Amino acid sequence: MEDIKVLRRDFHKIAEPGWMEVQTTIKIIKYLKDLGFDLLYGKKIHGQRLGLGDKSLLDAYVKSLDLGDIDFDISEILQGYTGCVGIFDTGRPGPVTGLRADIDALNFEESKDKNHRPNKEDFRSQNSFAVHACGHDGHIAIALNTCQKIVETKDLLCGKFVVIFQPAEEGVRGGLSMKDLDLLNNLDYILAGHLGMGLKSGVLGVGTEKILASQSYDIDLFGRAAHAGMAPEEGRSAILGAAALTLGLHSLCQYKNASRVNVGVLSGGTGRNVVAPRASMKVEIRADNNDDIEDLAKRLKAMVDGTAKAYELTYDLRPVGYSQSFSTKYPDFVDQCGTYLKARGFKVLLRPEFNASEDVSIFLNKVEENGGRAIHFIFGSDLKAGHHKESFDFDEGTLSMAVDVYVAMIEKLNSLNFRLETI
Ligand SMILES: [Zn+2]
Ligand SMILES: [Zn+2]
Repeated sequence: MEDIKVLRRDFHKIAEPGWMEVQTTIKIIKYLKDLGFDLLYGKKIHGQRLGLGDKSLLDAYVKSLDLGDIDFDISEILQGYTGCVGIFDTGRPGPVTGLRADIDALNFEESKDKNHRPNKEDFRSQNSFAVHACGHDGHIAIALNTCQKIVETKDLLCGKFVVIFQPAEEGVRGGLSMKDLDLLNNLDYILAGHLGMGLKSGVLGVGTEKILASQSYDIDLFGRAAHAGMAPEEGRSAILGAAALTLGLHSLCQYKNASRVNVGVLSGGTGRNVVAPRASMKVEIRADNNDDIEDLAKRLKAMVDGTAKAYELTYDLRPVGYSQSFSTKYPDFVDQCGTYLKARGFKVLLRPEFNASEDVSIFLNKVEENGGRAIHFIFGSDLKAGHHKESFDFDEGTLSMAVDVYVAMIEKLNSLNFRLETI
């Protein structure tokens, strides 16, 4: 218990937002190398990286770090190709089991309240621009501790283990970037989980359902400035276009199943007496199935194009986040896992609904599409404040519970000796 708590706190201290998880990635790689894992990292594990931050911010941050002696090539990590994949081969034939953890923090400052435990017990985020307010520091510690358990019990295990440390989950960006990794096609199983998410300490959600698909876009609209009193006819207002677009986009949710649109940020204009030459919007759409989200995305693009035409504006529309929906294709497998884990003494809640987005869905779908089996857990944890709040904190007892779940699952899956090519 102590080890894993210390590990979590170490990662909490070096909180880094998506595509900036430089220290975090290096620390994970060092840990896994010491355990004897093979590592993949840098450009070779990435494809399309959406929603990159400002390059000058990353460069200034990297410059400010004192990374000490590192005996492997970190040049691509320092360019923002963060995250890594650890591979451990027991040397015996058996299934290939994947495990996925997300590693990024959120882009805001941690609470300064002196009663906030990271402040009280001296593990506050050292970066004023980032805080682990979703529990991903816990996810890293859980995954690394599970890796340690795999190595400690390697003589009893068979097959291979592929442990994915995914960057930039917040804003659903990193999953897409790792989607086409070849080795994902070889996974017989994948395990993943999120702590907290509304379940109390001690409760284990098995086989999370209804993870929503999500796509995010940044939209800039460009009009023409003019004197608002003397010559309004010469102007083309980007704000009018953006306002019409906000109402239009919110009217698109006509689907039988769950779907959502949100214009979360809207800004524009240069002065009270100027026809606004420019407006910007941050928009997201969600749906509980992949057909509806694709339809919604198509109509969003058509509406941006049509509205821009109507108001004689030009525009720039950039995708900045992408994730899929997930509900298992193999409910029997989830039921079997639930029954097994209940027998192992866990307080199981079968198939909890997520009703939010998480790009773990990309990995879960990929493994199921290839005929493998995927399972997502919710590790119940009493929270001091909700996810994404500045004083978010979780019950650290959850960490060892989650490792116990993964270890129990690995034992079970190893004993099934299920291989993709056999089904
Ligand atoms: Zn989050
Ligand atoms: Zn999260």
